[in-house]
Amino acid sequence: MSKKNTSAKSEKLNVGVYGITGCAGCQLSLIFNEDEILDVVNLVNLKAFPFIKEVNIDEQFDCVILEGLVADKGDLETVKKLRKNTKMLVSLGACACTGCVPAYRHFTLKENYEHLLYKKMEEIEDVDPTPIDEHVQVDYYIPGCPPDKKEIITFIKSVAKGIVPRPYQSPVCVECRRNGNTCLLDSGKPCLGPITTGGCDSVCINGGFECWGCRGPTKDMNLDLMIKMLRDRGFDDKFIQDRMRTFVGLKLPMLEKVMKPGEKPDKLQTQFYGEKIYYG
Ligand code: SF4
Ligand code: SF4
Ligand code: SF4
Repeated sequence: MSKKNTSAKSEKLNVGVYGITGCAGCQLSLIFNEDEILDVVNLVNLKAFPFIKEVNIDEQFDCVILEGLVADKGDLETVKKLRKNTKMLVSLGACACTGCVPAYRHFTLKENYEHLLYKKMEEIEDVDPTPIDEHVQVDYYIPGCPPDKKEIITFIKSVAKGIVPRPYQSPVCVECRRNGNTCLLDSGKPCLGPITTGGCDSVCINGGFECWGCRGPTKDMNLDLMIKMLRDRGFDDKFIQDRMRTFVGLKLPMLEKVMKPGEKPDKLQTQFYGEKIYYG
């Protein structure tokens, strides 16, 4: 987490919410806090918000909350400029934190996605889709697709008081068990809860769906055991790889090597949640 601090507690923080390539679902999550959104607007000096206030990336901020991933050259320029103009940069949502589904294209053939690129819009200059921390330092991560609306509001309220909240770090299974759910792995479903960072109140499992890993891998995940559990339940390696890569493929660069017998994965893997993750 950043050592950079916010401005004096007595002053309102200058906060900006921005979006680069994404679906705006993360920003909507913030707005969906109907009962509290006005409190937040009064608590901080909200200088930019695409749906509410004019967006000017040349402003100076204490905190910028950024949705989306870098998918074209314009995104990259915006990210660099915002980084320069803010004391604290927050990645909001899975696209910003891990690359999410758009980054899955790194793991599929060009012919599978080529037809989806915006060829006719000259101002969009396509680049390989990547999360924000591939380009600039990120100080805080609010993961999820979409992120939990309460988590966003709690974050803003906390930083307004000069406190940076501790990110939730336990796997989804902890909340899932606490919620009294029957384990989906036990009924043969490919749930990624054991290796996924919780904080979503196991919302998918509560509704009967397995966890797809949208909040990103836990720092101390046991990837080998997860793969073994899925293999034991009859899932083949192609399925396991595809499922694990759907939301966080770029954050699991070791996956292919881990799955091949005899291959030794590199120790140093990737940066996530502002830290380097090591395998094994
Ligand atoms: S993380 Fe999900 S909700 Fe947020 S912009 Fe990406 S696809 Fe949309
Ligand atoms: S259903 Fe998934 S998240 Fe819940 S305990 Fe089982 S593996 Fe963990
Ligand atoms: S249960 Fe898994 S897929 Fe669902 S919101 Fe939580 S982390 Fe994301």
